[in-house]
Amino acid sequence: MRKFLIASNNQHKVQELNRILNPLGINAVTAKKCNVDLGDVEETGSTFAENAEIKALAAFDRTKMPSVADDSGLVVDALDGRPGVYSARYGGVNATDEDKYNKILEEMKNVPESERTARFVSSICLILEDGTKIQVEGTSEGKIAYEPKGTEGFGYDPIFVTQNGKTFAELTPGEKDAVSHRGKALIKLKDELTKIL
Ligand code: IMP
Repeated sequence: MRKFLIASNNQHKVQELNRILNPLGINAVTAKKCNVDLGDVEETGSTFAENAEIKALAAFDRTKMPSVADDSGLVVDALDGRPGVYSARYGGVNATDEDKYNKILEEMKNVPESERTARFVSSICLILEDGTKIQVEGTSEGKIAYEPKGTEGFGYDPIFVTQNGKTFAELTPGEKDAVSHRGKALIKLKDELTKIL
C-alpha cells in the first residue's frame, strides 16, 4: 500500500477517503499516525479549492510525503451560500454538529420547500512526491429538511435530503459514497491517479 498523508483529523473524512482509495492500493494516514505535528493551518481561502490546496501544501511542505486534503461544506441557496467555507465553524468553534445543523434549521424555518435547495461541495487536493498537484471537485445536490433524520454519517448529514428523498444520515456508507460530493470528487481523483501511477 502507498501511504498518503491526509491533512485532517476528521475520522469520518479519513474513512470516506480510504473506502475509495484503498482499492487503488493507497492508504491515507493522519499526521498523528505518522507522528508529525502539522500545527494549526489557517484556512484563509475564500473557496473550497483554495483551502484544500492550502492544507495539502502545508502538509507536503512539512513532510515531503504525498499529501491529500479535502475541504468541503454545505452551500444553502436561501442563506446566500452559507455556511459554505465556514461549515466547520458555523455557530462557533465549540458548536457540536447538532448545534450547527439546528442553527440552519432555525434560519430556514420559514423557507418554503421549493426554496430549500442546497448542495454539498468537496474539493480535494493531492500533492505527489515530485510536487505534482492534482485538484478535483465534486458536488451533490439536495434540499434542507425541516427536521433531522437518520443516524449515519456526520456533520450536516441528518438535514441534507438527497434526490431519492432520504437524508445522507439515512444512507448506508456505500449508498452515500455513490451520490456524495466526496464520492464524486474521489472518483475523479481515482481517474487522474490511474493515469499517473
Ligand atoms: P473542513 O474540515 O474545513 O473541510 O470542514 C468541513 C465541514 O463541512 C465539516 O465539519 C462538516 O460540518 C461539513 N461537511 C463536509 N462534508 C460533509 C458530509 O459529507 N456530511 C456532512 N457534513 C459535511
